Amino acid sequence: GVDPRLQAISAAIRVVPHFPKPGIMFNDITTLLLRPKVFKDVVEIFVDRYRDMGISAVAGIEARGFIFGPSIALGIGAKFIPLRKPKKLPGEVISEAYVLEYGTDCLEMHVGAVHPGERVLVIDDLVATGGTLCAAIRLLERAGAEVVECACVVGLPKFKGRCRLNGKPVYVLVECR
Ligand code: AMP
Repeated sequence: GVDPRLQAISAAIRVVPHFPKPGIMFNDITTLLLRPKVFKDVVEIFVDRYRDMGISAVAGIEARGFIFGPSIALGIGAKFIPLRKPKKLPGEVISEAYVLEYGTDCLEMHVGAVHPGERVLVIDDLVATGGTLCAAIRLLERAGAEVVECACVVGLPKFKGRCRLNGKPVYVLVECR
């Protein structure tokens, strides 16, 4: 059956039309964070799903993957790896560029953050085109890691439930509204 927590999670996300530019329906998870029971449910659903999958690292995508990722990492006894926007990490990095609607962006990871063969979970708040998650997958695979799954709180309807991106499973709790 349907998990009753999912309805409360969906309802706690604020939808802001035309932000940050005309035509975008921004799904704002900060309103969910103001409701500790709902915030906790999100973390618990992911921790329950990933706790016995041999995952030793959770990689969070800047910035909103940093809100959910560390709690999930601690909950499953894994380390947390920040995947950051360019020029933020002080050590040696590997970079992966990706295409946005206008222009390109880039994710960076510290060399040595993940070891070859490590089983990694990727976390972000939302998946739209999937371009950001694909860049994260490429970055981790270049470092020799095995991406077990990508998980987001919100996704476009085509990502709801379980689907695949670049051959990797994606797990999404609720649909964008
Ligand atoms: P994409 O690479 O197209 O899947 O976009 C996902 C990234 O952009 C995530 O890091 C999201 O936080 C952000 N994002 C894209 N579309 C939205 C939206 N409608 N509402 C909130 N965040 C979004």
